[in-house]
Amino acid sequence: MNHPDYLTEVRSDSDCADRRRKVYLTFDDGPDPIWTPKVLDILAYEQVEATFCVIGAYAAEYPQLIERIVSEGHELANHTMTHPDLSKCEPDLVRREIREANAIIKETCPPAEVKYIRAPYGTWTEDIIGESKKAGLTALHWSVDPRDWSQPGVNAIADAVMASVRPGSIVLLHDGSPPGESNSDVHTTSRGQTVDALSRLIPALKARKFVISPLPGCRSKTDRMSSQL
Ligand SMILES: [Zn+2]
Repeated sequence: MNHPDYLTEVRSDSDCADRRRKVYLTFDDGPDPIWTPKVLDILAYEQVEATFCVIGAYAAEYPQLIERIVSEGHELANHTMTHPDLSKCEPDLVRREIREANAIIKETCPPAEVKYIRAPYGTWTEDIIGESKKAGLTALHWSVDPRDWSQPGVNAIADAVMASVRPGSIVLLHDGSPPGESNSDVHTTSRGQTVDALSRLIPALKARKFVISPLPGCRSKTDRMSSQL
């Protein structure tokens, strides 16, 4: 069975001059007023750039965080307007969830260029990918998932990433929590472990000669073959 056409890792193209060991850090479910600034502080201190898959409703609520993400050189991706499981939504709603999030990001931060979408819960269907493409977005999945949202411990998060990371890996992390969960107990929605793991993870990746990069600025596998990463 063909799996849907989404990006799980970035392969180094044979004609690509840049053969550095790149890895891609992605942060889902923000922006969050507590955790996103802490993540941004660490990224700034370490001088690395990442990709933030933001929820449109939060972008509308915290436009200053969207502006900060972009002004510090990071990339924004669409994580829908309200974070539903799109595979359970009617086609009209899928379209609205994707397009409204794009519009809010654009309105909040006009210079932002949104090239990718990450489906909530990583649930992709051909229809979701089709709607994403129509909105000019490439489906972005991941290849390394330390399940940081489940708070397995700072070392467990960092170790899980270091055990499976390889050149081209897309690493899934979380700087916020979805609307349905954000009102629950602060302990369940804390991203403190992610933040602490990140300050260990980045030096560990650098020590293994990985270069932490924003995702390549291209829209499809075909485009990617002919463009510089
Ligand atoms: Zn999410």
